[in-house]
Amino acid sequence: MRKPKASLYLRFRMPDGKQSPYCPVLYDSKSRIRPFWCLVKGMPEHHPGATYYKRVKRDGKWGWESVGNDANTALSQSHATPLVVTKAANSKQNVATAKDGYRIDDEVAVYLLNIAKLSPKTYKAYKRSLELFQQSCQKIYIHQITKQDLQAFDTSLIEDGNEDRTRHNRVQHVVTFLRNEEGRRHGPAIKDVSITVKYVEAPPEAYTRQELADLFRMSDEDEKFLWRFFLGTGFRDSEVSVAEVTDVNRDTKTIRVDEKPYFGFKPKDREKRNVPIPDALISEIDARAQSGSCCLIYGNHGRPNGHLLRALKNVAFDGGLNCGKCKGTVDGKEVSCAEAPVCEKWILHRFRKNFATNRHDGGASARKIQKWLGHSSLETTLRYLAVGDDTSGEVRSIVNGVHVGL
Ligand SMILES: [Zn+2]
Repeated sequence: MRKPKASLYLRFRMPDGKQSPYCPVLYDSKSRIRPFWCLVKGMPEHHPGATYYKRVKRDGKWGWESVGNDANTALSQSHATPLVVTKAANSKQNVATAKDGYRIDDEVAVYLLNIAKLSPKTYKAYKRSLELFQQSCQKIYIHQITKQDLQAFDTSLIEDGNEDRTRHNRVQHVVTFLRNEEGRRHGPAIKDVSITVKYVEAPPEAYTRQELADLFRMSDEDEKFLWRFFLGTGFRDSEVSVAEVTDVNRDTKTIRVDEKPYFGFKPKDREKRNVPIPDALISEIDARAQSGSCCLIYGNHGRPNGHLLRALKNVAFDGGLNCGKCKGTVDGKEVSCAEAPVCEKWILHRFRKNFATNRHDGGASARKIQKWLGHSSLETTLRYLAVGDDTSGEVRSIVNGVHVGL
């Protein structure tokens, strides 16, 4: 009898940045896989760049295993794997017996094999974190790890002079490894062993006048409109991608952020809000709505546009605006921003910072700006406003004014 084979699924990045559920892949009438097509809530959808997963049972436990980004490789991999993988079939992997539990060193080795396909930067970071954890924790089996081991690990990171952000990341890598949500090691998920290392994330710097002038000079009309929309609303990327013409209230001259289940968009309570926007932006939205076919303000064939960041990076790269000094990854390879659209200087979040500082400089209170940005705490907003533009005309006149007559 033929054993049933593992079935294939796709997972893609949704407009809000989260991973989609596992969606079954689609085949054509001759049982050939249709690359990057899957069934989402009963409807066929195309998601180029999504990742294939197979669902298999290993040692009595169902799980997901990534089989990469190529449809045919994924298909052959799923054919090669019987639906149920028993210990005997898997003995090559040198997994400890369930009686003893799963050895930490074995589990780290398997885990690293399974994340080798991630970007080199991510892989190196996980590898280092797991190495450091193994140096700090002397236990043999993974089920023996407790919160105290994580606390001791964090203490060792402090002693080595690591910054809060690094400690946060290293501890988080170990917690992700323990949780095993992606099925990247053999043993069971360890869900309740977790600690939080708090760190204060520095807000991005606003674009300078010169940077914005350069960006607009290098952009076409659609792109200019997109940057004006970011600057005029202060929206997050995910909020811009699902913004619709109908969100604009012409009486109050505001735009609303609210839940949109039909796009899988679910903001937190404090993020639901009305933001007053410039008259000129409203006119521009209306003018575009009359010429467009869909109610999304910046959609992509009727679907939320998930490539806004890519658009910005491409304009900056094509316009020769990259700094030329930073590095990013393309198809898993490290490249310089001088030769690819990966400059970390060009990120959408910086527009939000411009929105906040411009309105603050214009006289709006921090409380108002907090509400408009959809921040849950005033503290976050104050951090946004803390680093202002020290080259503005206003600062120059204050600096010069108090110096008069000395
Ligand atoms: Zn750069």
